[in-house]
Amino acid sequence: MQMVEPTFGWIGGALCLDFTNTVSNHRAIRPGEKLGSFEDLIAWCRQAGILDESTSIELLRQGTMVPAQGERLLHVAVHFRDALYRAFCDVSEDRQPSKSDLDVINSLLARTPITLQLSVERERLVCLRTGCALDEARLLGPIAWSAAELLGSSESLTKVRQCAGEECGWVFLDLTKNHSRRWCDMNDCGSKAKAKRYYRKKTGRSEETETRS
Ligand SMILES: [Zn+2]
Repeated sequence: MQMVEPTFGWIGGALCLDFTNTVSNHRAIRPGEKLGSFEDLIAWCRQAGILDESTSIELLRQGTMVPAQGERLLHVAVHFRDALYRAFCDVSEDRQPSKSDLDVINSLLARTPITLQLSVERERLVCLRTGCALDEARLLGPIAWSAAELLGSSESLTKVRQCAGEECGWVFLDLTKNHSRRWCDMNDCGSKAKAKRYYRKKTGRSEETETRS
C-alpha cells in the first residue's frame, strides 16, 4: 500500500529540537498536531534517520496487528515531546525547566539505556550507539539522548531560541556568529513578518488597528 508521508520541519539543529517542532503554530490557540497517528511517528523517526526502511515497515506491520501497542507508543512519544518542548521554551527564556518536565525526560532516559558498539566500516573503526530492542527505546532513545546532551551543556543551552513568528513557537539552536537568528525559517515566518511590516508601512496602519479590524 502506497502511503502519503507527512512532511516535517528540520530546522532545529538538534534531533530533540526537531522532535518538539512536530506541532505547527505551537503558540496558536489551536496548534496543528503533526504526530496524529502511529504511522506519523514512524514516518518522523524514519525521516530523522532513527529507523531504517525495513525496521519502519516491520514496526508499522506490528502496529497494524496490535493497534493498542502503536497507540501506547504514540501516547508516550507525545507526552515526552510536550515535556521537552516546555523545557526548551523555559531555557530559551532563561528559566529552569520544571521538575515535572525533567521527571518525564529522566523517566524516558532510564528506559532507553545506550549501548556502544565498535565495528569496522570501510576499513575504519566506528563507534555506534545502539539502544535496546524495545520499540520505545528504538523510537525515542536517540531523541532522549540528544535532549540530555543539550540540556546538560550550558554552552549549547544559551543558543536555544524560539521563533519570533507570532504563532510559530518552534525552537532551534542559533548557530549564527552574532547570535542574530530570529526565525525558524527566513522563507516562512521571516518573510511573513517582512510582508506584514511592509503592509503596515504602506497603509500606515498600526498593529493595534489591524488586530481590531
Ligand atoms: Zn517560525
